[in-house]
Amino acid sequence: MPKFLFFTYIFIFGSMIGSFLNVLIYRIPRGLGVVWERSSCPHCNMKIPFYLNIPLLGFIFLRGKCRNCKESIHWRYPFVEFLLGCYFIFTFPAVFSPMSIVQWSLIVAIFSILVCHFFIDIDYHILPDRLNLGLLLVSSLYAFLFLNWKDAIIGGVIGFIFPFLISYIFYKLKGIEGLGGGDIKLWGVLGLILGGSGIIQNIFLSSLLGSVIGGSILLIKKENKNYALAFGPYIILSYLLQFHFARFIPSFIKLF
Ligand SMILES: [Zn+2]
Repeated sequence: MPKFLFFTYIFIFGSMIGSFLNVLIYRIPRGLGVVWERSSCPHCNMKIPFYLNIPLLGFIFLRGKCRNCKESIHWRYPFVEFLLGCYFIFTFPAVFSPMSIVQWSLIVAIFSILVCHFFIDIDYHILPDRLNLGLLLVSSLYAFLFLNWKDAIIGGVIGFIFPFLISYIFYKLKGIEGLGGGDIKLWGVLGLILGGSGIIQNIFLSSLLGSVIGGSILLIKKENKNYALAFGPYIILSYLLQFHFARFIPSFIKLF
């Protein structure tokens, strides 16, 4: 098969997963069961016919509007489909072997769950337990197969205990909850992949990103922009930086 055609298939596969993630992002925080049924317009509930439900192309055919009620379709839907398609291509292993395919599958599974976490946290300020549990399963398998499992356990323990203690002390001193339970669980799970020093880096880097980006959003918008306060997205962005672009992280952060 020509290389171009092969990667087109990988992209289409990724965007289909992205389309499914859109369903999860919509349904999980609303407490709706995740069932395999045709998507419907969130405004008028009209079922979307299968030929318009094709990732990305459906959005282009419809020119970003529901055919029934003419409400705009949120840009996030095609964005997530496009993002997943690109991620699937860029992470696809250069050397093809059964083991590299297993590794790739786990990496894209972790990414998929993190994408759901990212948008649900922005919308609802929660990192659902169901997703953290799924992430725990996939990360444990990844750490067991491909990483030093001792360092993975150390990372998991530090990722959970360290923020928990800070949060606890903060609570005792000030009477307010500094960190959400979901953030702490997410650090614990990502600690399995990042290892001991990696998770400390992540705590440092995400706090830095959170204060710089979150602070800027608050300043520019000049009003209390609620979404600036969700912390999960910074943990996730930091993880992706560490996992894929470690060489771009400033060395003062790597000291940890
Ligand atoms: Zn509609």
